[in-house]
Amino acid sequence: MKRLLAFFILLSLIVSGCNHAEPAVELSTEIAATETPLPPPTATSTPEPTPVPEKNTHYQFEMELDYSRHSAQVTQTINYVNKSNFSLPELMLVVPPRAFLNTYEQTELNGDRLAGFTEDGIRTTIHLNQPLEPGQLTSINISYSLSIPQREGSFGWSQRQLNLNDWHPFIPPLSSEGSWISHDPLFDSANLVVGEYIVNEIADFDLTLRLVEFLPNLLVASGAKAEPLADGMQYSLKKARELSFSISNQFHHEQLDHNGLLIQAYVFQHQRDRAPAMLQIASQAMDLFSEIYGPLNLDQISLVSADFLHNMEMDGLVLISNRVIDFYDNTAENNLTILLPHELAHQWFYSRVGNDQAMEPWLDETLATYSELLFYERYHPELSEWWWDNRIYAHPHSGTVNNSIYDAGSYDNYRASVYLNGAIFMHDLRLTMSDQPFMAALKTYVAENAYQIASKADFLQVFQAANPNVDIPAVFTRYFKD
Ligand SMILES: [Zn+2]
Repeated sequence: MKRLLAFFILLSLIVSGCNHAEPAVELSTEIAATETPLPPPTATSTPEPTPVPEKNTHYQFEMELDYSRHSAQVTQTINYVNKSNFSLPELMLVVPPRAFLNTYEQTELNGDRLAGFTEDGIRTTIHLNQPLEPGQLTSINISYSLSIPQREGSFGWSQRQLNLNDWHPFIPPLSSEGSWISHDPLFDSANLVVGEYIVNEIADFDLTLRLVEFLPNLLVASGAKAEPLADGMQYSLKKARELSFSISNQFHHEQLDHNGLLIQAYVFQHQRDRAPAMLQIASQAMDLFSEIYGPLNLDQISLVSADFLHNMEMDGLVLISNRVIDFYDNTAENNLTILLPHELAHQWFYSRVGNDQAMEPWLDETLATYSELLFYERYHPELSEWWWDNRIYAHPHSGTVNNSIYDAGSYDNYRASVYLNGAIFMHDLRLTMSDQPFMAALKTYVAENAYQIASKADFLQVFQAANPNVDIPAVFTRYFKD
């Protein structure tokens, strides 16, 4: 135990996480699970904007992690606050690890109002012995073990990394009609997951991590702030959508205190000479996006080399494909300079302003892709045209911008429509509105929808108000379907 303590103190370096990557494409390569692809869920609508909740749902975890065996024992308490206007006779619990065979084994599910529960795929319906009224709180206790799958992705392990994203049961948001916003993963013909399907509301997270064995050089990257305990580490993340980790005993760690924001880079040992450039690009991106979209007041952000071929944003952490980092050539004509700002823009469009990533993925992906151009315009204006040619026009770049992940059907179509045609749409919108109202609208959109789950209607309203003299819906009509 002494060794463990020393080890943990040594690792005050510990960091945090977020989600997206691609060698040249941004691809969520989730590998097939236990289930065949399910049909698209019934449409759910996005809730009306509500005031910032005074009290968030709280997730408390005790995790005992066995890095070598890729397993964890977890006890979890959810203190759920009914922030809706609906009386809730039941709660939904989404269990993402159940999308993978033999991964999640539940040994206890209890609660102060629990009358029973039914399980169906990744969803558990908790029946309450009396409805949870608006403003009321209920506690749910869950114990389970995780056998993390060996797979490429943000939930899985490889020989040199273990990634924990979307790893625990959570209660999804409610729509304005009072239905749970919960979708199924979509696997394409190559058995990869298209886009992201999980929708989270803002919550608070606390996790105590203990390791079952001492491993030299083990580093834990996380989106959360870490404090050493007598026998482990305590992670705390407030007003976030999830709590993720990326762990490796082969990381090289470097950090930069940038005007009060701790930026941490976790790369593999052979990439150590890339870390300074990553910290530099990230500091520029965080400065620019704070200026354009408004400050986030984050304490820290982690940039992690992912042992797979895609990129992923998470709360306070981004995973960048190790190949993107390998191919960095100290110029800005490079995927690292494109994709690192993209993933960091998701701290605004995904984390701060949430959206239904399955049904309206353009609200984070289109905006993150366009943020890349804003980055080039500011720091490498001579390469703006290069960005258009290399990032957009060199690839298929058509299709309905507000495709759902189910409409797009494949990752290629999803990318062509939501990301690439999406950037063309944003530029058209900007030229139509003119620069100043467009930039003002971006900032207002973030401010008005912070901590919420925004919809197309929210976006449209803000952009129309920013320039009432132009026909904004006409621009939408050229790129969107109703
Ligand atoms: Zn993205």
